[in-house]
Formats: sequence, structure tokens, C-alpha cells
Amino acid sequence: MGVCEAPGLMPVEEAIQRMLDVVQPISHTTHLPLEETLGRVLAADVISPINVPPFANSAMDGYAVKRAELDARDTLTLAGQSFAGTPFSGECQPGQCIRIMTGAELPAGTDTVIMQEETEANGDQIRFLVRPRAGDNVRPVGDDIHQGEIVVAKGTRMTARELPLIASLGIAEIPVVARPKVAFFSTGDELRPLGEPLATGQIYDSNRYGIRALLKQFGCEVLDLGIIPDDPVQLDAAFTQATSAADVLITSGGVSVGEADYTKDILTKQGEVGFWKIAMKPGKPFAFGKVNETWFCGLPGNPVSAMLTLYQIVQPMLAQLSGHTQYQGPQRLPAVAGTVFKKRPGRTDFQRGIYRVNAQGQIEVVTTGNQGSGAFSSMHQANCLVILEQERGKVQPGEIVTIEPFNATMY
Ligand code: AMP
Ligand code: MG
Repeated sequence: MGVCEAPGLMPVEEAIQRMLDVVQPISHTTHLPLEETLGRVLAADVISPINVPPFANSAMDGYAVKRAELDARDTLTLAGQSFAGTPFSGECQPGQCIRIMTGAELPAGTDTVIMQEETEANGDQIRFLVRPRAGDNVRPVGDDIHQGEIVVAKGTRMTARELPLIASLGIAEIPVVARPKVAFFSTGDELRPLGEPLATGQIYDSNRYGIRALLKQFGCEVLDLGIIPDDPVQLDAAFTQATSAADVLITSGGVSVGEADYTKDILTKQGEVGFWKIAMKPGKPFAFGKVNETWFCGLPGNPVSAMLTLYQIVQPMLAQLSGHTQYQGPQRLPAVAGTVFKKRPGRTDFQRGIYRVNAQGQIEVVTTGNQGSGAFSSMHQANCLVILEQERGKVQPGEIVTIEPFNATMY
């Protein structure tokens, strides 16, 4: 199928941009103890009240000396010690050196640390076997951070990389943006909750488990409204309940061609919603708009499509809503195709792949196999998405493709 046979499809980037154009960040902020802020978005710049380190200190266990003293002699007299938390209180005099430990304050009268392995001790006489440069093995005041400097910018999402940094400044509480409240439900007469036997034609409602998990990882507060049957009265009630309680409502199912009219009727009564056909595979049908004062995202029902539209299209919007202005989206990398990737021009494919560094040191990616939009085991097997451009056709082994690795822990 060529592009001409897929008229009116909206490119993925356009769908994302349309959402970003209308959604405003949440303005409500709150102060929280630092330890409760993992995943939260910083509402103001963090400015350092101190220098880090606050005093010049040693990067090694060894001896603190005045470097110039070693021009004329190689042995100095041990005159005291500086330990971490228990500094040397006097001043190092000519001809003297001070025993020093890692992190201990550099004593007055010294400018250099010589590591223990490069010395020979004979009683209180310390012989230095090397001639370092002045300042070696010393971490100066403010080496890492200067007082008054912006250390973490407003709009940063807090990870394990920011928490210790802010802690090192002695800041115990920070302002964060209120989390978006996101309600979600599944639609479909065929859906059953877990733990109940399936009758013919029924399946388990799996989408809600993925949607909830992703929303939590995006930093949203979640409100699970369960399964709503394809019944206008119940759907109408669910929309009303969700939109009175949440900033965003996410549903799965009911936006495909066969079902959209149905949902449309209910939604046009309550709000303004666009039913889009996005040039992405999986995940073509998608709805976005406003219902009362709540943003509405209607995901397709097919499990892989639901997850990938949430991940690719809704995630940037939720980041913007969360005030996460430093959001960059998942990293994309070039990789060598290790297998054929079946593809037709017309839509951007988000295939599931497994990447690794091959014997030649290149990133190589292979397909997980079945790319059906209902074949969720492909998501479990994959460690990345393989993003194949809208106009591209079948990919042969050896061609370069774009991959998007799934997140690691220190993200
Ligand atoms: P729909 O978008 O409602 O036409 O659904 C498309 C396909 O996804 C159908 O095969 C549905 O049975 C399936 N589906 C819809 N919702 C869910 C769900 N919550 N969990 C698992 N499969 C679903
Ligand atoms: Mg359905």
C-alpha cells in the first residue's frame, strides 16, 4: 500500500504538536520533604546556598604539604593530622607535613596532597618519592558547585540523580508542581475483570494494567474507573464522573471506525473531541479533545496500540501538563538491522525489537517476530522500539534504523 492509499492520515508529530499547542501546565505547586519528591517536577530553580565542597579537602589518604617546601628537600616532619570531620587546627610550618584522610579539610599552610603510596615513613620523618604539581589531590572550595548557582532548573523531573545533589546543598524541602490527576477506564462488552471465568467471546481487560503502570511512571495520580460496557447510559455516567474528578481522562477502546460513532455521540454532547486517524502503526485510531474541563485521550483498544499511543503521543502532553519543561522524551539511537523488518510505506511503525552491541561493536537490532497490535508478548520480549519512518518500506538486514531503548533505572 502506498501513501496515496492512506489519505488523510495525521503524521505522529502533528498529533503530538496539536496536543502540546493547547495544553497548559498545571499551576498549583506544593512544598515537599526532599525524600518524597522522586518523580515529581521541580516548581522553581534550586539555587545553592553554599559552596560544594564547603572547604578545600583531600581527594586521597596521604600527607598535606606546601609544594614549594619540596623544592629544597625530600623529607618533612609530621606535625599533626586532619581527619574527615576532625580537621587540623593549627597551621603547617616550614619543614612540616600533616597526615590527611580523604574528605578531610586541607590544613592552613598546605596546598597539595601526596598519596600515602608515594611516601616512606620513618618515625615522624616522611620522605616524598614524587614531586607533584601544586594543588594535586586537592578538591578546592566550590569545586563542584558555587554558592548562588542554579543547580537544578525549574521543570526538571526528580530522579535518583537529582535527590543527592539537592541533599548536598542541605535543602530539606523543595517546591513541586501538583501531579496531574488522570482517570481511566476500559470500554467494551467483551471485557471481563481478572479472576472471573471467560464466556465465549470474552477476554480479560489487560489494558488498564498497562495504562495504570505507565501513568504512575509518568508521575500522575491515577483514578481507575474499571470497565464500562458499550452502553450509552453507563458511558455517559462514566464520562461525567471522570471529568468532574480529573485533569485528564484516558479510555481504551471505542475509537475505531466501527465504534467511533457511538462514542462520538456521547462525547459531542459533553465536549469537543477530534477523532483522528494517526499515521502510526500500531495505533491508528485516536481521539483527543476536551470534555467539560478535562482533557480527553481515547486510545485504541488493541493492547499494543493502547500502550504505544499512550507512550508516544500522550506522554509528551502529560509531561507538559506536569510542568516538566525539561522533558526530552526517550532517547533515540541508530542501529543496524539484524533481520528483515516488514513494513509498508504510509505510517510510522513502532515495531518491537531486541537490541544488543554485536561483535563489531555496533548496536544491532532484531525483530521480536509477530508485530500484531494484539500480540502483547512482543512488548515483553522487546528491549526497544524500532521506529521506521512513515515513507519507508521493508527494511533489509544491514540497513540503519532508529531504535528507542526502553528506560533503564537511572533515567
Ligand atoms: P476497539 O478499539 O474497542 O474496537 O477494540 C479493538 C480490539 O482491542 C478488540 O479486539 C478488543 O477486544 C480489544 N480490546 C479493547 N479493549 C481492551 C482491553 N481493555 N484489554 C484488552 N483488549 C482490549
Ligand atoms: Mg470496543
